Amino acid sequence: MKRLLFLLSVMLLAVACHQNDPTNPYNLPISATMDEYLVQVEENPETELVDLEDIIPGVSLDIVYARSDNFTGVPIYTSPKAFLCRPVARALALAQDSLKKTGLGFKILDAYRPYAATLYFYEVYLDTTFVASPRTGSIHNRGAAVDLTLICLETGKELEMPTSFDSFSDTASHLFNDLPEQVLNNRATLRGIMEAFGFSVYEPEWWHYNYTNARSYPLRDISFEELMNR
Ligand SMILES: [Zn+2]
Repeated sequence: MKRLLFLLSVMLLAVACHQNDPTNPYNLPISATMDEYLVQVEENPETELVDLEDIIPGVSLDIVYARSDNFTGVPIYTSPKAFLCRPVARALALAQDSLKKTGLGFKILDAYRPYAATLYFYEVYLDTTFVASPRTGSIHNRGAAVDLTLICLETGKELEMPTSFDSFSDTASHLFNDLPEQVLNNRATLRGIMEAFGFSVYEPEWWHYNYTNARSYPLRDISFEELMNR
């Protein structure tokens, strides 16, 4: 009996310790060190986070979380970079190739996002329609989601979409149709190309797309610096 009580108290202590980890308060299976990340990549190279600019040379990036003019009011990333798991980046490259024929290109607004950012976003904005719950983590933490819009390749100008990025409003939903015809067409063009290359919409946000089997990619809390300096 004594032994059982001892084991029980050790187990409770272990659970309590996990819950007290402020970087992973919900005890999710997150890889948070480069060592863990490198083991994962060796076991499954498809989980490697690749630099999108290496996979799509010249791709337009507008990483708003590297600046202060995002919904949090402070820069979240120290570098304006976009990383995605290799198959996700490859699919996006194929989509961009196809899109190029129509004179259009992608502008990437966000891609892989370390879990620490998801924790912080939820502190700033509690509505989990527009920011991922830290209890599950975001598909962005898995490097399998991308936020993006369309540009005209010749001018670099963005096509008009229903709202600005991260507008957190009903107008951002794919179900909102009280919009000028050109805006509806632009949103449909983005959706059409993304769906053709294995991505699916997230209904409340016209800019967010998840890749096929997105939840099969691991949750990560690896910083951009660690990825850039490996
Ligand atoms: Zn997103």
